[in-house]
Amino acid sequence: MKKIICFFFSCLFGYSLLSAQTKLNRANIVIIISDDHAYQTISAYGSNLMQTPNIDRLAKEGMICNKAYVTNSICGPSRAVFLTGKYSHENGFKDNETSHFDAGQNLFVKELQNNGYQTAWIGKYHLGEKPQGFDFWEIFPGQGHYYNPDVIMMDGSTKRIEGYAPNIVEDLSEDWLDRRDPGKPFCLIIGHKSTHRTWIPDTCDLGMFDDKNFPLPDNFYDDYEGRAAAKVQDMTSARTMLPDYDLKMFAPGHPEPTVDRMNAAQRERFDAYYQPVFEDFKARRLTGNALTEWKYQRYMKDYLSTAASLDRNIGRTLDYLDKHHLTDNTLVMYLSDQGFYMGEHGWFDKRFMYEESFRTPMLIRYPGKITPGSSLNEYVLNLDIAPTVLAAAGVGIPKDMQGENILPLLTRTKKTGRKAMYYHYYENGEHSVSPHFGIQTKDFKLIRFYKRVNSWELYDIHADPKRYA
Ligand code: CA
Repeated sequence: MKKIICFFFSCLFGYSLLSAQTKLNRANIVIIISDDHAYQTISAYGSNLMQTPNIDRLAKEGMICNKAYVTNSICGPSRAVFLTGKYSHENGFKDNETSHFDAGQNLFVKELQNNGYQTAWIGKYHLGEKPQGFDFWEIFPGQGHYYNPDVIMMDGSTKRIEGYAPNIVEDLSEDWLDRRDPGKPFCLIIGHKSTHRTWIPDTCDLGMFDDKNFPLPDNFYDDYEGRAAAKVQDMTSARTMLPDYDLKMFAPGHPEPTVDRMNAAQRERFDAYYQPVFEDFKARRLTGNALTEWKYQRYMKDYLSTAASLDRNIGRTLDYLDKHHLTDNTLVMYLSDQGFYMGEHGWFDKRFMYEESFRTPMLIRYPGKITPGSSLNEYVLNLDIAPTVLAAAGVGIPKDMQGENILPLLTRTKKTGRKAMYYHYYENGEHSVSPHFGIQTKDFKLIRFYKRVNSWELYDIHADPKRYA
């Protein structure tokens, strides 16, 4: 009997020890989510437009997902899918214009909290102003600003912080990491405003692409033949992109809400850079294609300069983890809330189920689990992140989450992913993109447009992916 009791207690003690160790060793999670960052501009994805050494570091030390997509290519709804692991029609946040996010529903961060994790979201959130599921949050109201952004604090007050948004988001993130309880695992979501319109670079990055001339994408002058929805959109460099609002072509001191927030020193450096560009622009008196192509070049310069700061601050996050000996036990994921057009079809913006907006960059580093330098060519969705993070944390996945746990794909214990992806864009407003839904298999893409235009489009995605889908 004594032996049995001893055995029982040693088992119990062993179990508690194991359980404590398991809890202590549970992976930390850092998810860096940017806004409108195109995979076409990331050197790890083969881009020659610029170098992104810090995102590339994630590719070298982890896995690059070459076929990562979103279920609804628009800021708020994409984030709702990410947090809930449910499609827009289930989580209720279908579009930015008429929907509101119900933060009271279940979210993967709430599951993490219930299982001993500390959770935080810092930076651009874009799902209202009262986050739930986070032990700590400091967020931008709505879109936030590039310069001297307002930050909503947990007590409901708003504080204007001097500086440039990506640097501030990283500073606040590191402050929270410094203050967290080191005895518990954590999940930190770093939300960057970059590279959202209107692409205002940090003062230290102004002019960094001035020597570069960017080649026009092959389909820059697309005639949209046979594509009714593409014909009626309003997101071209030619027609939609505004020299003043988008490309900062205005005189020094001209009132413009995005730059009026700058302090005197910031505005001086801004004007010193843009004024000669503006003077040159006025003198040229460009029209037609010459004007369109000039706008495209300026767009690329501003966008990529904004991306440079984003990449640098991702590097700061990785350096912080190294410095604090957290790298080995932290899963780091980088993604955007969707893709973006860099002149393909003559466009900027997103929304369509065509490749550049449908797809998102996604890179994941998970030391000891994911092979460094590996790549994944199976379909994965932003919908999959919630269950995957829970699986990595050893937390049960709620049955009503619709995403798949892709951890077995990331760790190569499973070879084949989903056969098809469902997409649905609901909004019918800004940029005049018709609502549409569709299915993409490994060979075909079928899209049904409705409301604004009524049409079907079917593509063989291998036959002519660049010109069409
Ligand atoms: Ca976005």
